[in-house]
Amino acid sequence: MAAELLKEETREEVPVAVIGGGIVGPVMAYILGEHGIRVHLYEARGKSLDGSQGRAINLSLSSRGMDALVRIGISEEVLKETTPFYGRCIHLPNSGGKTKLQYYSVKKEAVHSMNRRRLSELLLKKLEENPNVKIYYEHKLMNIEHQNNTLHFNVKRAGEEKESSYKISIKAKFIIGCDGFNSSVRKSVLGSILHYQQDILDEVYHELYLPPTQNGESALQHSDMFHIWPLGEVMLVGVPNKGNSFNIILFIPLSVSKSIKTPSDVLKFFKKYFPDLLEKIPNENQLIKDFFRKTPSRLNTIKCYPYHYGNILLLGDAAHSVLPFYGQGMNAGLEDCLIFEECLQEKDGDLETAAELFTDRRWKDLHTLADQSLHNFTTLRKGVNSNRFWINIKLESLLSVLLPNVFKQIYPMVVFSRGRYSEIHEREKWQKKLVNMIAIIIIIMSMLIISLILSFVI
Ligand SMILES: Cc1cc2nc3c(=O)[nH]c(=O)nc-3n(C[C@H](O)[C@H](O)[C@H](O)COP(=O)(O)OP(=O)(O)OC[C@H]3O[C@@H](n4cnc5c(N)ncnc54)[C@H](O)[C@@H]3O)c2cc1C
Repeated sequence: MAAELLKEETREEVPVAVIGGGIVGPVMAYILGEHGIRVHLYEARGKSLDGSQGRAINLSLSSRGMDALVRIGISEEVLKETTPFYGRCIHLPNSGGKTKLQYYSVKKEAVHSMNRRRLSELLLKKLEENPNVKIYYEHKLMNIEHQNNTLHFNVKRAGEEKESSYKISIKAKFIIGCDGFNSSVRKSVLGSILHYQQDILDEVYHELYLPPTQNGESALQHSDMFHIWPLGEVMLVGVPNKGNSFNIILFIPLSVSKSIKTPSDVLKFFKKYFPDLLEKIPNENQLIKDFFRKTPSRLNTIKCYPYHYGNILLLGDAAHSVLPFYGQGMNAGLEDCLIFEECLQEKDGDLETAAELFTDRRWKDLHTLADQSLHNFTTLRKGVNSNRFWINIKLESLLSVLLPNVFKQIYPMVVFSRGRYSEIHEREKWQKKLVNMIAIIIIIMSMLIISLILSFVI
């Protein structure tokens, strides 16, 4: 039933208002609460976190995110519900189902796949234990008047007879926007942000599901790997779940998505592009239902500079939405919380100067992450099918074993360390040149050896 506005209410001023109780908001609120700061967190969804959240996609949790979970004392509880995976299993195109494995690191370290909704639930439950934090669900921020630090919310409440909603206004001394890529906090300061860039990809994604077999086994060989079917502009990935199922995400151009209109179009599409996967899906009707379940989502990159304006700070996707192809969006958002805490300590608890320091310390890394996430999209879609990609991967791991103090594998530094994204990228640039040079020398040497052998034989 449509909600109607019944009343208006103004509440007392709060020291810190955190907007958004997805993933980054609860962690930031918890840390501030531990510093003795009183925080009110406002989340648009209801407490059960169902409905609007929708995205049940599994997220890969790596070191940066894990460190933030360790910081708030929830890592063990979360780890119990994750599924480890150790690298990529690439399904080679037109090969009759052949695959190639690429481990993330020579040490075979694991990234952990975690259900997004469940992670959010656990974080909010943890936050309830913090006596300095109050959580308000069903509070949707509409806008902020920053001249007088006032936030305006629409509050939804399930009444006895019908759902109703009313408006409230609160004043806050400091406001942190953790309200995701469509951030209302960011919109309210957009005119004051010096640099703002939003790029929307032509691709959309559909969320699908591959259940385990009837005996409860994984339908795909290598259930401890991240699966990729790279076919140029069409790409599909499979993220392992607990219980041997996979969350499948199909990335396709919007025009292709729009051209698939009927159940038989869906099946035709899968027969054409992913026949090996289609064979493993036990219930075609479920596939069709999943395909049409939701309007396909667009992918965004958002770059801002700075991340603060007076007493307002943006964190997580609100500040830096990146493409999912580096598996770092959430991890970087969680790392924001750790870095903001460092800044706060350096600035003796002054939130506004800590926010300035946060921008200084973070922007270069987050802009690099946005660029590298886009770059990795191209590599995953097309690059993994080239011989050059595999030669470089082999050389990279060989050099990292032979010269461990000089040469390091790049992706493990991104996922298994807290090294700065910008510094890792600088290293990547010179290492790439070196690897290319070595590859060329190897090719020339092999040609010389072959021609030498041929000259003896002929
Ligand atoms: C397909 C896909 C796969 C991904 N895979 C990975 C991965 O493997 N690893 C990884 O690290 N990252 C991944 N990401 C990125 C990750 O999902 C985000 O970076 C992460 O969710 C950001 O967390 P957040 O808390 O900033 O925002 P969100 O998780 O979006 O949370 C924002 C919260 O704010 C609330 N909200 C919104 N507007 C308002 C309002 N006006 N008032 C009050 N509340 C509001 C929302 O209800 C929500 O709860 C992926 C993203 C996509 C799209």
